[in-house]
Amino acid sequence: MPARPKSKSRRILPPDSALRSRARKILTRLARAYPDWGPTLLFSSPLELLVATILAAQAQDERINEVTRVLFTKYRTPADYAAAPKGVLERDIKATGFFNLKAKRLRAMARGLLDEFGGEVPSDMDRLTGLSGVGRKTASIVLGAAFGVPAVAVDRHVERVAQRLRVDRAGPDIEASLRAIYPKKDWIKVTWSFVLHGRRICRPTPLCPICPINDLCPYPKKTKTLSAALRSNQPALPPPVPGRRPR
Ligand code: SF4
Repeated sequence: MPARPKSKSRRILPPDSALRSRARKILTRLARAYPDWGPTLLFSSPLELLVATILAAQAQDERINEVTRVLFTKYRTPADYAAAPKGVLERDIKATGFFNLKAKRLRAMARGLLDEFGGEVPSDMDRLTGLSGVGRKTASIVLGAAFGVPAVAVDRHVERVAQRLRVDRAGPDIEASLRAIYPKKDWIKVTWSFVLHGRRICRPTPLCPICPINDLCPYPKKTKTLSAALRSNQPALPPPVPGRRPR
């Protein structure tokens, strides 16, 4: 009998009790290790967080916070972004990188808010992702951090951590997997605990010897010594950045 061709599709397994138990321990320890879990972008309204999150693509949050400290004193409403003359908004956000594209996205998003929602940022996934330039990750961040609506946001850190911990196979994608494994009340905490863990310890070259969940992690390529991991040309551990805890 000819050998059956190997399927390229990933097997999706419903979370069993062992996985749920391990996942619960992981989250408990991460939340304890990162008591400052929460968004690291500075904002005082849903609009500010939406703008900051769009600007944060391919950029460090610290840089975005430097830019928005000034930006938010000048642009207070969606109309301010929509009406910003060509070249002016671009200059005001230049330091965030990819500023032409980001300015285009901000104007389109602001026009959408004005045309569809009376200038208010909506508080549900469908309407948020209906805005031009707003994907599920951005919408989930805004929902969780600005409105307290349970949502899992998957950025590159969450993706890397979930894959190494093998908590990414309970659904068709990582967001669905984490939503299946963790109760709704923990979705925001999962997002930010995984983000901070990916930034500080489970980096591209992970600092496994000092990882608080080392014994719960099945990743086969754990680093054995801290010095070897630190030699991997990564910047020093960043200090904790206080963020606004989701309501
Ligand atoms: S043991 Fe290493 S790979 Fe596993 S979660 Fe910790 S830092 Fe990441």
